[in-house]
Amino acid sequence: MIDQATVERIYAAANIVEVIGDFVQLRKKGVNYQACCPFHNEKTPSFVVSPSKGLFKCFGCGKGGNAVTFVMEHENMTYPEALKYVARKYGIEVKERELTPEEERRNDDRESMLIASHYAADWFAAQMFDTDEGKSVALGYFRGRGFTDATIRKFGLGYCPAAGDAFTRAALADGYKEEFLTATGLTIKRDDGRLYDRFFGRVMFPIHSVSGRVTAFGGRTLRTDKKTAKYVNSPESEIYHKSNILYGLFFAKRAITQQDVCILVEGYTDVISMHQSGVENVVASSGTSLTVEQIRLIGRFTKNITVIYDGDAAGIGASMRGIDMILREGLNVRVVPMPEGEDPDSFARTHSAADVREYIAAHEEDFITFKARTLLDGAGNDPLKRAALISDVVASIAEIPDPIVRSVYIRDTARMLDVEQQLVAEEVARKRLSHGSDTQTREFIRTQQQAQRQQHALDSRHVAAGSSIEELEKELVKYLIKYGDRDFEYKEGRNVVSLNVAGLIVNDLEANGLTFRNPRYKALYDCYLQLFNAREQAAEDAENDEPEPPIELHHFINHPDPEVCNAAVDILTDDENYVVSKLWEKHDIVVESEDERLSHIVPRLVILYKSKAIELIIDTLKAQLADVNLTDEQLMEVTARIAALNKERMTIARKLSRLIL
Ligand SMILES: [Zn+2]
Repeated sequence: MIDQATVERIYAAANIVEVIGDFVQLRKKGVNYQACCPFHNEKTPSFVVSPSKGLFKCFGCGKGGNAVTFVMEHENMTYPEALKYVARKYGIEVKERELTPEEERRNDDRESMLIASHYAADWFAAQMFDTDEGKSVALGYFRGRGFTDATIRKFGLGYCPAAGDAFTRAALADGYKEEFLTATGLTIKRDDGRLYDRFFGRVMFPIHSVSGRVTAFGGRTLRTDKKTAKYVNSPESEIYHKSNILYGLFFAKRAITQQDVCILVEGYTDVISMHQSGVENVVASSGTSLTVEQIRLIGRFTKNITVIYDGDAAGIGASMRGIDMILREGLNVRVVPMPEGEDPDSFARTHSAADVREYIAAHEEDFITFKARTLLDGAGNDPLKRAALISDVVASIAEIPDPIVRSVYIRDTARMLDVEQQLVAEEVARKRLSHGSDTQTREFIRTQQQAQRQQHALDSRHVAAGSSIEELEKELVKYLIKYGDRDFEYKEGRNVVSLNVAGLIVNDLEANGLTFRNPRYKALYDCYLQLFNAREQAAEDAENDEPEPPIELHHFINHPDPEVCNAAVDILTDDENYVVSKLWEKHDIVVESEDERLSHIVPRLVILYKSKAIELIIDTLKAQLADVNLTDEQLMEVTARIAALNKERMTIARKLSRLIL
C-alpha cells in the first residue's frame, strides 16, 4: 500500500505531456497536444492530451484518464505499479505500508529468485556471445535458423555450457545463494549433495512475465540422440506457474492491443520467427496444452484469438480440444492451417510480414465453420458418422456463453450441414442443460434470466418516460464537478435569491434520501459529497471567516480510484462545444450565457431528477403490490406510501411546469 501523501506527491509531480510523451509522439496543437491513439488503430489523430487539465482523451475509441491511468492502460500495469513507475520517473521515494514479517520474507524470497533468474539470463547470453563453445554451438545454431543478432538479443537467447556445473559454480562465486538457485530449478542438488546445472549443454530461451521479468527458462538440446529430451523447462516455483504464462506475451502485448487480435502458435521459435518477420502479436502456450488461465490472460488484451496449427491430422485434433475451452471463455476463435510441410517458424522465415498477414487473412476461418467442414469431409455420406458430427459441432456451439453469437452459429451450422435449424437449436439447448444439470448452475441460469427480464422492464420504462434517470444523474454530476462552487441568481416569485450549485444539488438530494443508480456516477457523487462535507465541517470549525478553498477538478481527474478518474474524464470531455446538451433540447430550453445557463438549468435539473427518482420508487412499490403473499397490513403500508409519493410528485410536477413556462 502506497500512502496517500506519496500518491498526492506523485500526482503533483506528474506532467502528463512528459509521461505520455515517453510512449507516444505528441504534437502541439493550440493549448493541447495531439497524436494517433495508441489504444486503437487510426490514421488521423483523435487522441488529445490537455496539460492544463492533466487529462487525456481519445475521441475515437473513448479511452481517457490521467497520467497514471495512461501508464496502467498502456503498459498493462496495476494501479500501484503505474504509480511507482511515475514516481521513479520523477525521483519520488515511494513509502509503502509496512509488511508483516511473513509477507516480507515471501517478497524477499520471490525477489531473490527473480534476481537469480535475471542473472542467469545474462550469464547464458554472455556464454553464447563471448565463449568459443557458445559461439560455435549456440550462436551458430540460432543464426542457422535465420535469427538476426538483434532478434537473439531482444529475446535474450543464450547457452548453458556442456560442463555439468559451470553455471552453478559461476553463480555461487558471484554470491548467489544455493537456496535460490535450487528454488528456481536452475540448479539441481543430487542425493549425494553435489550440485549441477539443469540446463547443461542446451540453448536457452528465457520466459518473461507480462511485465518483462525473467521467471523461467526453456532449454533445447542440440544433440540428436533419442534418449535426451528435446526440451527441458524450469519446474513450477514461487515465481513460475506455467499454466498462466504465455511465451512472448511481454513482447507481443502492445501489438495485440493495437491489432485487437492475438495469434497463437506452438513453440518458442514460431514466436521468434514471426516477430522477426514483423508480425508481433504472437504468443505460444509453450509446452503445455492451453489452459483457462492462459486464455483469460489473452482476454485481458483482446477478445479475438487466431490459432495457427501445423497441417497434420494430430495438430488439428489437438487444436480442436483446446479451442472449445476458448469458446467457453467467450472469446472469438479463428483458425489458420499452415501449408503442407510448413510450420509458423519456417513460413515466417521465408515470407515477409505482409505475406504472413495476407496468408492469414486469406486462410483464416471461423472455428465452428472450420470444424463442421473438416468433420463433414471425413464423414462423407455415412448417416451414422453425420449424426456423430452434428453432435460434435453442437458441443462446441454449446460452449459459447453469448446467446446471440450462439444463435448465429446455430443458423450457419444448420445451413452447412443441411439440417433443420430448429433441430440444431434443440440439440444445443439440451447440451447446455446437461452441462448445467447440477442445481447450482440451474439456479444461476434462473437468476440470470430473472435479472434480464427485470432489466428489460426497467429499460422499456425509461424509454417510455423520456430522458433516463442515468442521463439526469450524469448531468447532475457534471454540474457538480464543473460548477459546484459557483453561485447564481435565481428568481423565486418576486424575490431574487442567491444559490450555490453544489449547495442546491447536495442539500436537495440528501434531504430526500436519494441515491444514484449508475455506479460510476454514484462513485463520483460520493467523492464530491465527501469533499463537500469535509469543507463544510472545516468552515464550521474555523475561527475566522476566511472562505474555504474551492473543490477543484484535479480531485476527480487524479482520484486514486481509476473508475472515478475515468468517469470524471468522460464527463468533462463529453463534447465541450455542445452548449445545449440533448437533454435540454428535449425540454425546449434555449440558453445563452453560462451564468444564465446555471440559473436556468440547475434548479430544473434537480427537480427533474427528483421527479424521475420518485417515479421509479413508485414503480417499485407498485410491483410489490402484485406480491400475493403480502399481509393486509403490508398492503396498506405500501399503498399509503404510494399515495404520499404521488402527492409529492404532483407538487414537483407543478413546480416543474412553472419553471419551464
Ligand atoms: Zn483511441
